[in-house]
Amino acid sequence: MNMEIKKVESKTILSVSKLPSADYCLNPYKGCSHGCRYCYADLYVRCGDNVDSRWSDLIEIKVNAVELLRKEVSKRKKGLVMISTVTDPYQSIEGEYEITRKCLGILLDADWSVSILTKSPLVTRDIDILRKFRDIKVGITINTDSEVVKNNFEKNTPSIEGRIEALRRLHESGVRTYTFVGPILPMTDARKLATLLKPISDNIIFDRMNYVEKSIETYRRHCYLGALGKDYYSSVVRSFGEVAEGSRAM
Ligand code: SF4
Repeated sequence: MNMEIKKVESKTILSVSKLPSADYCLNPYKGCSHGCRYCYADLYVRCGDNVDSRWSDLIEIKVNAVELLRKEVSKRKKGLVMISTVTDPYQSIEGEYEITRKCLGILLDADWSVSILTKSPLVTRDIDILRKFRDIKVGITINTDSEVVKNNFEKNTPSIEGRIEALRRLHESGVRTYTFVGPILPMTDARKLATLLKPISDNIIFDRMNYVEKSIETYRRHCYLGALGKDYYSSVVRSFGEVAEGSRAM
């Protein structure tokens, strides 16, 4: 993986959320080494000098995130913080820099609510902190059952098996979990995947492929066009619904 890392000082760390499910967003990094082809983050956030071509190979580390967060939680109204919305808080460099872990420590001390979304089993490193929160949920994205499909759309993300195992560990540790099936990618057997995920997910949430233009070439090249559109989305949601009650679309 060709990746440049830059340390930056950020001006703020909590931003007011536009999502109805959160009050604030916290993104410890700018850029994301997971390199998903459908990633929309670069449409919203500039990274370095080049707006859209370096999202996955120039990662900015917000080195003052912890200090900023400490100040901001003491001044702002208490709320629910979503970690993260335009990066993966557990991408590989988190293993070394631990910005997400340290931010969680601040939020725990201040008794704030947290919602995490990641594609990485590295989140299980922090189970010791996560299980102490009064109000927390941890989501892992599992949006296909095929490693081949995953690799075609998400070149650097951890394996599906690793993510399912991480979800299992979180759930067994008493942390509230959810599976994010989004954006729905081509699947071999949605029902079977739902059967695996149901016992380890407190909730299952779906989302469609919203930025088709970003990944249309991947759909074409690998003959996945049949897995695009409303009908395919509905068929996956239906298959999950047959197995996992309480699953819902975004
Ligand atoms: S994990 Fe999320 S932020 Fe990172 S590249 Fe993939 S879609 Fe973008």
